[in-house]
Amino acid sequence: MFSRILIANRGEIALRIIRAAREMGIETVCVYSQADREGPWLEQADQTVCIGPGPATESYLRIDRIISAAEIANVDAIHPGYGFLAENAHFAEVCRDCHIEFIGPSPEAMGTLGDKISCKRMARAAKTPLFPGSDGAIEEEEEAVETAAKIGYPVIVKASAGGGGRGMRIAHNEGALRTSIAAARQEAESAFGNGAVYLEKFLERARHVEIQVLGDKHGNAVHLFDRDCSSQRRHQKLIEEAPAPAIDPKKRDAVARSAADLVRRADYAGAATVEFLMDQDQNFYMLEVNTRVQVEHPVTELITGIDIVKATIRIAAGEPLPWKQRDIKISGHAIECRINAEDPDRNFAPQPGRLERYTPPGGLGVRVDSHVRAGYMIPPHYDSMIGKLIVHAPTRPEAIARMRSALTEFDIAPNRTTIPLHRRIMDSAEFKAANVEIHAIEQMLKG
Ligand code: ADP
Repeated sequence: MFSRILIANRGEIALRIIRAAREMGIETVCVYSQADREGPWLEQADQTVCIGPGPATESYLRIDRIISAAEIANVDAIHPGYGFLAENAHFAEVCRDCHIEFIGPSPEAMGTLGDKISCKRMARAAKTPLFPGSDGAIEEEEEAVETAAKIGYPVIVKASAGGGGRGMRIAHNEGALRTSIAAARQEAESAFGNGAVYLEKFLERARHVEIQVLGDKHGNAVHLFDRDCSSQRRHQKLIEEAPAPAIDPKKRDAVARSAADLVRRADYAGAATVEFLMDQDQNFYMLEVNTRVQVEHPVTELITGIDIVKATIRIAAGEPLPWKQRDIKISGHAIECRINAEDPDRNFAPQPGRLERYTPPGGLGVRVDSHVRAGYMIPPHYDSMIGKLIVHAPTRPEAIARMRSALTEFDIAPNRTTIPLHRRIMDSAEFKAANVEIHAIEQMLKG
């Protein structure tokens, strides 16, 4: 096992990794930017190294500085968390070249599953359900027009290297499709340096359901069931729950097994999430694979009892997975609300600045993963999530009631947060009936 690891991240996920490492008897070295000098999580690390000014491009995204810090601190491995460099295959490669273990997949496996077109090719072999659409990248416009006519409009043109909802265009007819292809190519080229685009059927009403998978370095992979992340705003997840409610057990089983098979075929070691859209008839269509631990991993931890962050460290150290698929069972229901310092009444404008009051809720089945405290100054440079409130209860209605109560208890001032919005969603008939599709929250905000 490693004796010291470096955490190339900040905030709640840095703290989450410190906690896991400390329980495992591993020392932690946390890098930080000048804007994070007073970050409360840094007090929990064994060592800290400043790597530059506030903007992420000058600190958390600087591979050279992170590697220098790792060399100086003499660590065995680097945990990238999520965001920043977590899905950067070049970073994983540099770590390997420097003989520092990257806690995540190999650059090759990350490349195969992280690129949407090569991922789809492998998914086809694993019988992971895919959207009807183009076979790989669009080469000829005429071919795409033919495919769209076959599968029917609307269709969506997406960038192979895409992320964060960029490089996507919906087309309702042939004329729009022709302009979309050219525009999406250009956008993808300038945003990602890779102009490859592909076409798939656009689903008007769908739920976002994803499968958590863990793979090891010995050819094993297991799934940890599913999560529903349909409560979104502008393709950003707001609420996640596990298991995904009201899904036929046979469907769940088949899709989850295909996701684990896909990860196994890619020789993938670490945590991966295979994301799907699900239509009203419970047909699944794969969106993409995220090659890292996700923000919403706690809901899966609570229903399976598996510590996903510890698992990523053990896997990187070469340990085989200690479970067979049949050992992994679902217990109860978990819900997570992302607490963002944003003003829902002013188009979710970020609310940086000093937190004067911060009192998190507690009690049975209530977990708060947060890096802040009263007096903390929220810097303007990073995303506005200041914590995650996660609850676990025997059933979904009990979990909703517990979340409702915990949200009421949560006291944050003067910064505006997403807490009132979460309360409204917990009270809505749609959420209670598990009838939330990916555009429902936006419609609720309009209405
Ligand atoms: P990104 O990597 O940019 O996040 P994804 O492929 O994960 O791109 O898609 C992001 C979001 O865009 C999805 O959660 C969904 O809301 C919407 N979307 C993507 N593809 C489709 C589709 N074929 N039909 C309907 N909505 C889609």
